[in-house]
Amino acid sequence: MTALDTRGPIEVALGHFTMRIDGEPVDAEQWFEIVNPATEQVVATVAKGTIGDLDRAVAAARRSFESGTWADLPQSERAAVMAGIGERLNEDLDEFVELEIAANGATVRQATGFHIGYAAIHWDYFTELAGSYRFEQAGPTSAWPTLAQAYLRREPIGVVGAITPWNFPLLLAMWKFAPALAAGNSVVIKPDEHTPLTMIRFAELCEECGLPPGVLNVVTGDGETVGAALAAHPGVDKIGFTGSTAVGKAIGRAAADTVKRVTLELGGKNPVLVLDDADLDVTVDGVLFGAMLYSGQVCLSGSRVLVDESIHDEFVRRLVNRAAQIVLGDPEDFDTDMGPVASAEQHQRVLRYLAIGVEEGGVVAFGGGVPTGPEFETGWWIEPTIFTGVTPEMRIYREEIFGPVLTVTPFSNDDEGVAMANDTDYGLTAAVWTTDKERALAVGRRIRAGTIWVNDHHMVSCQVPFGGFKQSGIGRELGPGALDEYTEFKHIHLDLSERIDRRAWSALLSVPPDAPPRPESRV
Ligand code: NAD
Repeated sequence: MTALDTRGPIEVALGHFTMRIDGEPVDAEQWFEIVNPATEQVVATVAKGTIGDLDRAVAAARRSFESGTWADLPQSERAAVMAGIGERLNEDLDEFVELEIAANGATVRQATGFHIGYAAIHWDYFTELAGSYRFEQAGPTSAWPTLAQAYLRREPIGVVGAITPWNFPLLLAMWKFAPALAAGNSVVIKPDEHTPLTMIRFAELCEECGLPPGVLNVVTGDGETVGAALAAHPGVDKIGFTGSTAVGKAIGRAAADTVKRVTLELGGKNPVLVLDDADLDVTVDGVLFGAMLYSGQVCLSGSRVLVDESIHDEFVRRLVNRAAQIVLGDPEDFDTDMGPVASAEQHQRVLRYLAIGVEEGGVVAFGGGVPTGPEFETGWWIEPTIFTGVTPEMRIYREEIFGPVLTVTPFSNDDEGVAMANDTDYGLTAAVWTTDKERALAVGRRIRAGTIWVNDHHMVSCQVPFGGFKQSGIGRELGPGALDEYTEFKHIHLDLSERIDRRAWSALLSVPPDAPPRPESRV
């Protein structure tokens, strides 16, 4: 398969990637360089789109929506096209894994299991929903205030814009474009400029599998220009966004002018509560998995560990011993546990937080810097880092670091642990580690977050709604209601009254006492 346009401006291993607008590759005068985080080599170039490209993409999406080439297909036909795309995705998984590793430094095990593995499973789930979702159903027949039949409809919103981050570039875009497409919308995606390869490749694959032109467009460009223009665009009816809380707020403000619908999946500073009866052998591994998967660059990362003071010292001792076994190295090596962080900016940001943590009085119990050795001379490496002695006013306790850094803070009883867990502006996820399931559920019910794991972490099921409380977001993705976020709800009221005097119109028009009963309803 000749997946990629290789007429790029410079010779690079993976070639040059163009935008996809109206079913066509669209190049640009400028380009982004995609840099492998483990080697710092430029592995691909990507067209750097402009606001003009965005306007063309929105117009193409609008044309495709209005023409009904996708929106008016019977839902079984939309589901069949999506099923064909899913088959191709499954055939091409290795190519997607390779692109993901090269652009964002995920290890081969993470990319296979999470970044791309989840995407394939989630696509199949959305395909199933495309076929089974109830777009119209008869509602109640009401006798009051008048006799009427309700019809309840879900209709596509129109043109959906999606703005997505660099950490799971295909998966998190899919959580938006897949339900949007399943519901009959047309979509314009602005992926993050550092890691758009898998998204571009997927859009191309959709075109090859029969998705009509203009239904799924990808415009690569800067967030501050192209992203901001998409959020404010008068031709866009809805924005689905995943990214930082600061940008999410800006998007909400930009969308308000045209009263766009918005779904926002934002940041987190997710608490992990280790209760005094936790099985420490399991808990230590689970806590490290929760904090260090993909070098902690996951919105769900359990970076704020709260431990019952009675087991604090033993927990820390075991945690540090186990962290020492995490193998850093070449992401393509199957034995590697942890790769680099995804970009030079991210590297600088995490190093700044490590310095802040020390300045604030945190104790580095493990890691705390860049690993040494010839294999780490190029690439953006950070050691898995554990801070102890961390108190709630410290920035490393309160702010999202988005790196392989966890903090440990003791609490004296479950009530205090819950209060500390909730002492944050975020509310995305939390984890509770205990051998008492009832106690876990009692604690979990009191934590203000969209997902609570008991004795686990990072498990996101496509069958269950996902999203945040508080400043972690608005709306929910995934689950059987995922298409609700990409449809408008419509009520059709069909009058069944037979007599004029049995209607509510008397609130305005008095009925003459001698009015003959009339056969009604011409419908
Ligand atoms: P980011 O907010 O910097 O960027 C996200 C996207 O927004 C990118 O495509 C970027 O180009 C674009 N953008 C930037 N400025 C913009 C603007 N002014 N207007 C419109 N678009 C703009 O986030 P990031 O650094 O890519 O990702 C990390 C953040 O995402 C973290 O805070 C993380 O917690 C969050 N995140 C949340 C979830 C979730 O599901 N809740 C999942 C993954 C990541």
